[in-house]
Amino acid sequence: MSRFVYADHAATTKLCKEALDAMMPYLTAEYGNPSSPYRFAGRAKEALEKARGQTASCLGAEAGEIYFTSGGSESDNWALRAAAELKRNKGRHIITSAVEHHAVLHTAEWLHTQGFEITYLPVDSAGRVSPDDLAAALRPDTVLVSVMAANNEIGTIQPIRELAAAAHKGGALFHTDAVQAAGHIPVDVRQWDVDLLSLSAHKFCGPRGMGALFVRSGLRLPPLIFGGGQEKGRRSGTENVAGAVGMAAALVKAVETMPQESARLTALRDKLIGGLKKISGSRLTGHPTDRLPGCVSFIFEAIEGESIVLRLDNEGICASSGSACSSASLDPSHVLLAIGLPHELAHGSLRLTLGEETGEGDVDYLLEKVPQVVKDLRAMSPLWTEAS
Ligand SMILES: *Cc1c(COP(=O)(O)O)cnc(C)c1O
Repeated sequence: MSRFVYADHAATTKLCKEALDAMMPYLTAEYGNPSSPYRFAGRAKEALEKARGQTASCLGAEAGEIYFTSGGSESDNWALRAAAELKRNKGRHIITSAVEHHAVLHTAEWLHTQGFEITYLPVDSAGRVSPDDLAAALRPDTVLVSVMAANNEIGTIQPIRELAAAAHKGGALFHTDAVQAAGHIPVDVRQWDVDLLSLSAHKFCGPRGMGALFVRSGLRLPPLIFGGGQEKGRRSGTENVAGAVGMAAALVKAVETMPQESARLTALRDKLIGGLKKISGSRLTGHPTDRLPGCVSFIFEAIEGESIVLRLDNEGICASSGSACSSASLDPSHVLLAIGLPHELAHGSLRLTLGEETGEGDVDYLLEKVPQVVKDLRAMSPLWTEAS
């Protein structure tokens, strides 16, 4: 029997016990609709508002600035579409980056069909957006800038404070997709001075299908979903009380344990990176140090990322090739192309993302199996010749 190693925490995480315990009453006995007038429902309403306050304080925000959503994709869609709608009479230019999640990129593409011009900022070889490039791209008709806090494929952390400052200097709103950052690195909406920020519970051991959008107080963001007027009329639909309570519990735990957990994961990450670097024809993608604590991403010459992932699956390892987030497509990842990798190299990518239940033994197992799999695949690859 092979070991089971889950090394795909950037895709999703296991619900933590704290979140499940907090959710349980609202999945069972406390099923009141928070909008109903009787006291039974009042308890659900109270739990919802407590979760809003906890979520806010983990982000340095006020409770009134947190809107619950169904996840990162909805928050990103809402932020971009609503900010564009709000400002469309001021201008129709939006700036984002070439390495965003598809929830941002595809929304930007749709806005383009609605008459908005989109500028995609390039990134350097480590995947970073330059605040100077942003300053140069800003125009009087730029209404919104959206740059992610940390990348889901290569783990690179962006200089959000500097980027937000540049956007504001140019008179534009600033949104950040902080789905990979929240619960993993410190996130403070005031320090960063962002107007809009997206997060998703299942990326930090909270429940699937639950997220939030931070909307800076005073910003009159139009709704994306119309209906019964929940979430101050901005996001209708009967509230997911259990989801909100679970997200808040998971985020509180992640923020409380962040100093130790991030040091622990960084050490495991760097051990794994150090070992995989020894494989010839391999290279780390993303920034060597300004990267998410649990994120390891590599390119292996002359083989396909998908093949590595399939072989690792046979060894009990869950990994991602990152080369096709929507694995139906055979195009190499837009992120790897944006950091300047040629097509043939961008196909050979492997992403291993560590998390709460990852231990030293798991990293040792990865360090045993990944080099073996790479070697086996190369033995069959007509493209591979051992470099001199
Ligand atoms: C996972 C992810 C999303 C989408 O979040 P969902 O909650 O799965 O919709 C958006 N952005 C980034 C960077 C992500 O990693």
